[in-house]
Amino acid sequence: MAQGPRVAAFEAAFAEAVGADHAVAVSSCTAGLHLCLLAAGVAPGDEVVVPSLSFVATANVVRHCGAVPVFADVDPRSYNLDPAAAEAAIGPRTRAVMPAHQVGLPADLHEFQELAERRGVALIEDAACAVGAEYRGRPIGSRGGLACFSLHARKLITTGEGGMITTDDEEVAARLRRLRHQGMSVSDLARHSATDLVFETYDEVAYNYRMTDLQAALGLCQLEVLDDILTARRRLADRYGEALEAIDLVEAPDAPPDRVHNWQSYLVRLSPAAPLSRDELMQVLLEDGISTRRGIQGAHAEPAYAGEGGAPHRIASFGPVPLANTEALAAESLQLPLYPELEDAQQDRVIASLRSRLEP
Ligand SMILES: *Cc1c(COP(=O)(O)O)cnc(C)c1O
Repeated sequence: MAQGPRVAAFEAAFAEAVGADHAVAVSSCTAGLHLCLLAAGVAPGDEVVVPSLSFVATANVVRHCGAVPVFADVDPRSYNLDPAAAEAAIGPRTRAVMPAHQVGLPADLHEFQELAERRGVALIEDAACAVGAEYRGRPIGSRGGLACFSLHARKLITTGEGGMITTDDEEVAARLRRLRHQGMSVSDLARHSATDLVFETYDEVAYNYRMTDLQAALGLCQLEVLDDILTARRRLADRYGEALEAIDLVEAPDAPPDRVHNWQSYLVRLSPAAPLSRDELMQVLLEDGISTRRGIQGAHAEPAYAGEGGAPHRIASFGPVPLANTEALAAESLQLPLYPELEDAQQDRVIASLRSRLEP
């Protein structure tokens, strides 16, 4: 059964794990962010301020609403949307700001909450990568507004495909549940367990963004191992951090004292003073048997947003807002191997190879 008892149980367990009042399971984070924007009232012609330096879904969901993503630059140390740059990108048609907690490092939520209140726009957190991450002593998802997590296989915990929205607003949660299921006024679960005859109505045009009970059953098991995954990742990240202190040409990730990274990825930046480019470094590491991934790319540079069809984006993003940090990070960053099963000896080999290739 779609939206069956295991979906309900997974929603309750997820809400408890991240300290939210309500969690709404959906078919992907992309679907969930689309619903969050709709719930915030984003409509055709509106603008939403987003980082360009993010997975392209962050910009795509704005387009799914018929709205225009306005790209703002990121902070060069955290890779996260810069609150001052985001504020400068706000115009009369801006309806929402959507920072992403990039690869699991929380964005400046306090500043974004203040900004959203001051400028009268909605705040939606692209928390796709942020399960288990914390900001000022509280888990991402516990701050009351709208946050959306991904449960894709690439993320820390997975249901294959899937997403989870968290909020403290009961009415918003109820609307999100209707929006994910064709606008149906009464859930399947409620109808099937009713003792009186219940007929549903369809009050608005909506979507099939449902999670299945099969996926939710998997998600419940995944939540049980989340702490172990976080612990293993943190230990490996600490080992990388120590080793990189001795490699001047590679900048370790930012670790602000008021937030806890979940280390979904270990993103480093290669100095422009290095004897080889980021791509050349990735190639020689590959020759040493070490596969890395390039860092996050800028959506504004993708054909979908930079091409002829993307004229509104071009005006919006290249007019007032330069994206210098986005472009530098897209060119200079890479992800080192980090997964719970990575053995110390393997990690030592990554570090040794990095060192020998950079300091021949
Ligand atoms: C993975 C990711 C998404 C999309 O998540 P899906 O569950 O695959 O739809 C959105 N935003 C960011 C920042 C991501 O990393």
